[in-house]
Amino acid sequence: KFDRTPLIAGNWKMNMDHVQGITLLQKLVWTLEDAKHNFERVEVAVFPPFTDLRGVQTLVAGDDLPVAYGGQDLSPHDSGAYTGDISGQFLARLGCRYVLVGHSERRTIHGEDDALLSTKMAAAYRHGLVPVLCVGEGLEVRTAGTHVAHTLAQLRANLEDVTAEQAARLVIAYEPVWAIGTGEVAGPADAQEMCAAIRAELEALYDAGTAAAVRLLYGGSVKAGNAAAILRERDVDGLLVGGASLDAAEFASIVRFEH
Ligand code: PEP
Repeated sequence: KFDRTPLIAGNWKMNMDHVQGITLLQKLVWTLEDAKHNFERVEVAVFPPFTDLRGVQTLVAGDDLPVAYGGQDLSPHDSGAYTGDISGQFLARLGCRYVLVGHSERRTIHGEDDALLSTKMAAAYRHGLVPVLCVGEGLEVRTAGTHVAHTLAQLRANLEDVTAEQAARLVIAYEPVWAIGTGEVAGPADAQEMCAAIRAELEALYDAGTAAAVRLLYGGSVKAGNAAAILRERDVDGLLVGGASLDAAEFASIVRFEH
């Protein structure tokens, strides 16, 4: 069913120090290699904490591992007096392919708004990083039944300054906030409903070719047991996995959803 290469991505959040991170990544790759996983057929990416990235780069480059990685956030600025921030150019220098932009934990805990996220999108593109833009509604919005309109409004705001050429390289993760880390998973039909709406919106904002090129991920309490059913949906091109990506065996079986 896949027109686009599926992407299975693990968001480690603030878990795994630089020693634990290397061990986890090594275990994950060994497990997948043992299972003869075809990394060209299903792409694997991890989002470790910033302090792990140098170690991840050394491991991936040194052993030529077929795994992509990225930062969990980036500054809208390139350098300067921004204590505690990490710039896109630093991530690019460490070999990052991706960067998460607008994860719900950044939006809620750090108060990141759409205006800020537009500048973060621009920063990601400026340094050749592929943004994984996270959108999705909270429980009140879902209960009110306005989740599609809400999520598309977020999408439009965050893509305001993104050109069609840039958008063609984009990854979008639909993550209903009520399903993140709660054990509450959106059903495959819910994931499909939103991903189809996002793709239609991309076609309206850009064109059909761009809409067909963008990979749409679902995220929210994904486990080995529910991954395959969600990925069977037509417009779902991959998964963004939090908790279950911290266990190499569990994450490997999500990556191997077809087996
Ligand atoms: C996430 O952090 O993006 C996420 C989906 O988390 P979890 O899988 O733990 O719900």
